[in-house]
Amino acid sequence: MTNMRATTVADGKGVTLHYKLSLEGDELVVDTEADEEPMSYLHGAGNLVPGLEDALTGKAVGEVVKVVVSPEDGYGDHDPDAVDEVPRDAFPADLELEVGMQLTAEDEDGNLTPCMVMELHDDHVIVDMNHPLAGEVLHYEVRILEVRDATAEEREHGHVHGEGGHEH
Ligand code: ZN
Repeated sequence: MTNMRATTVADGKGVTLHYKLSLEGDELVVDTEADEEPMSYLHGAGNLVPGLEDALTGKAVGEVVKVVVSPEDGYGDHDPDAVDEVPRDAFPADLELEVGMQLTAEDEDGNLTPCMVMELHDDHVIVDMNHPLAGEVLHYEVRILEVRDATAEEREHGHVHGEGGHEH
C-alpha cells in the first residue's frame, strides 16, 4: 500500500497562497484573490509576520487558515518615538506635502525608512516612521494553493523566486 501523505507547510518549503487581511472593524487591507496574483514566500525565513507564519506551520494544500494576530506577533506596537518632527526645509522645496502622503526617509548611512506625513505646520512637519500596520490586530484568512521544496538557492537567499516571489 502506498503511504499517502499531504504536503504540509514546514521550514524550507516554498508556499503559494491567496490571503485576505482585515483589521479590527472589518476594514479590508488586502485581498489577493480579488485583485492580485497569489503570493509566494519561503517558510521559516521570517518573510511573514511571526503570528501568521506560526499559524501556517503544518497546514496542507487546500486548507483555509483563519488567524487573528496581535500586534506583538504582527508589525509590533506603535512606537511613539518613531513619530518625529522634521523641519520643512528638510523636504524638497518643490514637493507639495499632504497629510497621509507616503515618503521615504534616508539617514546619513543611506538606510531607507518608509514614513507617512501626519501633520503639516508652518515650519515643521510631523512624520510617522512606524509600519502602517503597527499596533493593529491583523485578521488573516489564507488559502494554501501550493507547497513545494525550496531550492538551495532560495534557502540561501531567504526568499522564493519566480511567480509571486522575488524577482532578480
Ligand atoms: Zn533570491
